[in-house]
Amino acid sequence: MTTTSHNVLPEELEDLVALFDVRGTDTPTPDDEREAALAAPRFGTVFTDHMARISWRHDSGWLDRRIEKYGPLQLDPATAVLHYAQEIFEGMKAYRHEDGSVWTFRPDANAARFARSAHRLALPPLTVDDFIGSIAALVRTDEAWVPSGADSSLYLRPFMFASEAFLGVRPAAQVEYLCIASPVGPYFAGGVKPVSIWVSEDYHRAGPGGTGDAKCGGNYAASLLPQTEAQQHGCDQVCFLDTTTNTYLEELGGMNVFVVKDDGSVHTPELTGSILEGVTRSSILRLVADRGYDVVERRIPLEEIVSGLADGSVREFFACGTAAVVTPVGRLAGSTFDHPVADGEPGELTMAVRTELTDIQYGRAEDKHGWMRRLA
Ligand SMILES: *Cc1c(COP(=O)(O)O)cnc(C)c1O
Repeated sequence: MTTTSHNVLPEELEDLVALFDVRGTDTPTPDDEREAALAAPRFGTVFTDHMARISWRHDSGWLDRRIEKYGPLQLDPATAVLHYAQEIFEGMKAYRHEDGSVWTFRPDANAARFARSAHRLALPPLTVDDFIGSIAALVRTDEAWVPSGADSSLYLRPFMFASEAFLGVRPAAQVEYLCIASPVGPYFAGGVKPVSIWVSEDYHRAGPGGTGDAKCGGNYAASLLPQTEAQQHGCDQVCFLDTTTNTYLEELGGMNVFVVKDDGSVHTPELTGSILEGVTRSSILRLVADRGYDVVERRIPLEEIVSGLADGSVREFFACGTAAVVTPVGRLAGSTFDHPVADGEPGELTMAVRTELTDIQYGRAEDKHGWMRRLA
């Protein structure tokens, strides 16, 4: 990542967490209900008892760091975010290791990206300390909600939005930052299954100078119709091309993409400003280079991939992001082509990288790059 690494030491973490006033709920979820939710978590449907929150006022900056009861927000109908979508978010996970400790993966990278997204959306930057402190304070308060099942985790969703009630078009003078958490099970229940991808030639998710490299809800809103179009063509996900030439691969609605060739090279679209720089993407670039592969970040013509699938020189294709980690792609289709990726089964390097990354995250493999941070 093009970020300044901020290594938060455990003692420092105590100080950051202490800034948060814990206002615990007086109606916590009963133990048996929580255990039932943890036993069969469905992505993003059940949330923990609390949320982290910090408010921002133009005149006084960030104030009132707190952990409070999870619950609905009361918003004036004129609240700016509802009209002009001044909003950003992050996605991370807390992992329980075998000894019971709870860790997260490269939170400094998410914090730095959150600050870059804030800048692009004219929102106030949250410091790395407040970002990591809020997550640690929430995870400690709701530690009992961190699942221990295989490939389970506590999904963390930090977000920030314009909370000022006004209809003028200018950056809001009132902003709320929150972090909510949801226990999640294995993304692929019943084993990793390759997905099919539709390449959209009619729609784009982001253009030059736009918000493609910021993690904002608006990008997702723009991806929903093309996603529906992909499903109408019998595909699971949509892949976008660059806006200028409509010929280069960019990414999926919420995942970056990688291609493995038969000459032992691994390729991913270079960051042009309209692609979101995934933490998973940057970690995989590192792991694949460690394995001795020739790693190339460049503009990748769709045409090269389509002919490579036809002649067998493209051996593997996968997508990556925090939620699903690594997702093998088994089929690539568009208006003029429809090819399986090799035999349609998950690729060897795809699965090896997936295992290596999840082993680091769950504490089953040595963390050579110092990516893990203990939260509780
Ligand atoms: C979040 C996101 C990704 C993946 O980022 P990670 O940090 O790896 O989770 C990729 N593309 C888009 C558009 C995203 O919003």
